[in-house]
Amino acid sequence: MRRPLLLGLAALVLTTGAALAEPKANQLFGAKATASPHKPHAIGTYAKGCAAGLVQLPESGPTWQAMRLSRNRNWGHPEAISFIQRLSAFAAGQPGWAGLYIGDISQPRGGPMLSGHQSHQIGLDIDIWMLPPKSLRLSRGQRESISSVSVRSGDQRRVSSAWTPQHAAILKQAARDPAVDRVFVTAPAKIEMCKTARAADRDWMQKIRPIYGHNYHFHVRLKCPAGSRGCQTQTPTVAELSKGGNGCDDTLMWWVTDYLDPPKTRPQKPAEPAPRKRGARDYVMADLPQACQTVLSAR
Ligand SMILES: [Zn+2]
Repeated sequence: MRRPLLLGLAALVLTTGAALAEPKANQLFGAKATASPHKPHAIGTYAKGCAAGLVQLPESGPTWQAMRLSRNRNWGHPEAISFIQRLSAFAAGQPGWAGLYIGDISQPRGGPMLSGHQSHQIGLDIDIWMLPPKSLRLSRGQRESISSVSVRSGDQRRVSSAWTPQHAAILKQAARDPAVDRVFVTAPAKIEMCKTARAADRDWMQKIRPIYGHNYHFHVRLKCPAGSRGCQTQTPTVAELSKGGNGCDDTLMWWVTDYLDPPKTRPQKPAEPAPRKRGARDYVMADLPQACQTVLSAR
């Protein structure tokens, strides 16, 4: 008499387990080895989306090499691939630079990733190493093992000795590119660039955005390409809209002052532990635009 009850319980446990184990979108997209057979299309937002018809950046080109090939994250919208071609050609004209080492772009079908980034989901975010390439003939093994350099000092307040005028020139060239929405980089790099900025540099300089990290690489975010219906470019922040400035201001200096040494405030009672914010690695397919299901399942 007891056996059916036990079996029933086991079945209940199994069903509940199955419901809990709804696959995460990052596992589904992370398992795709190739692009979807569609026209190129960025879908959704940089941090919640996917991409159809992405193109693989050739692992080595005349002025670039893709790094960490084992990750299979060198897939981008064709606009991203052509941007890399033109910025790396510019970099190759800089003394000491053979071109650019390219870090993560997106997975073959974009989408959330198993590790790392919240963004990089729609084929329009590109990480570029701060390490000036001496050689563009690195083996696959070397591309796994060598490290980039940090352009930020150990105390995080200024640039390190690895920073060069060529870094500034390449960042400026990236920001001046009409396809670029913004460039994320460690604050000391922008502070350095602000020292020589002129009033006329406002339009591109405001695209250089200070952020935590981003001292071993900078991150270029492209605008949604024409025709990518459903792709959402970010809205400018209030400061960008109202001040019309270039961001060489107190909001920039905050990163090397109050951000590092938060002003002392009155002791407060211990706060409740904040609930963990739901991020890209928690998403299931229902969180993404519906078209991402088509992108995922296409053969
Ligand atoms: Zn990035």
